[in-house]
Amino acid sequence: MFDIEKLVSRSCRLCPRNCKVDRNKREGLCKTKNQIEIASFNLHFGEEPPISGTQGSGTVFFAGCNMACVFCQNYPISQLKSAYKVIDEYALADIFLDLQNRKAHNINLVTPSHFVHLICKAIDIARQKGLNIPICYNTSSYDKVEIIESLKDYVDIYLADLKYADKSLAKRYSGVNDYFEVATKAILKMQETKGHLTLQNNLATKGLIIRHLILPNNIDNSKRVLDWIVNYIENPIISLMRQYFPAYKAFDYPEISKKLITTQWNGILEYAYKLGIDGFIQVA
Ligand code: SF4
Repeated sequence: MFDIEKLVSRSCRLCPRNCKVDRNKREGLCKTKNQIEIASFNLHFGEEPPISGTQGSGTVFFAGCNMACVFCQNYPISQLKSAYKVIDEYALADIFLDLQNRKAHNINLVTPSHFVHLICKAIDIARQKGLNIPICYNTSSYDKVEIIESLKDYVDIYLADLKYADKSLAKRYSGVNDYFEVATKAILKMQETKGHLTLQNNLATKGLIIRHLILPNNIDNSKRVLDWIVNYIENPIISLMRQYFPAYKAFDYPEISKKLITTQWNGILEYAYKLGIDGFIQVA
């Protein structure tokens, strides 16, 4: 495996932000230092059916984030870091094993990109102690291609957002100029390394689910996202998410300061149907 750690030591370039800060001494744009910070972990039943199954997905929520979405629904964890705990790789490995003992179908790493080097160590430790359920990487997709390549022996399933095709929206709402370029390259690499979603007894064992949250009054962006997916991903499985509600700083942006209206949602569903898209719908 290529040495991910080298991208962190003294000058962090672990993600496309390339902050070049010494995370042993201070935080980067992800608001974290070189230590694992978790907000919570538990069995989660609200993911797509092949991820949550009947027994739940063993979800670990990490603190901080390398994006800065103004509408983030996890903002107390990702942006404000109002409550979190610092743990080491051994403690994280024990959490994975605890979730497995509680019958989780998988380990679901939520917002892992800025801790990926430490998470890999925890996976190694946990596997030596018997961890054998699939690992899901639940990401904004603002990830470097070489990181995704290096995860091929660590991650089984990608739950990958594709938030924007529109560059100006990525800048306006998430503070990054190159989101589409970066995320699409990462998603192509996820597809190359893990392939189509594979199920066993209705549960995901490997592959890719691309998630897209429909933002109010940005329907053209959503259509462009779907266009890209059907043009570049073979037999894609897409999770269309309707559960947008204004949170955090969204009230400062009038167009996204309210919930998605039904006519816009129906318009996207109709568009997806015409494209022949297969997948899931999340409404709550
Ligand atoms: S992981 Fe954090 S510190 Fe490192 S480049 Fe990304 S945002 Fe910056």
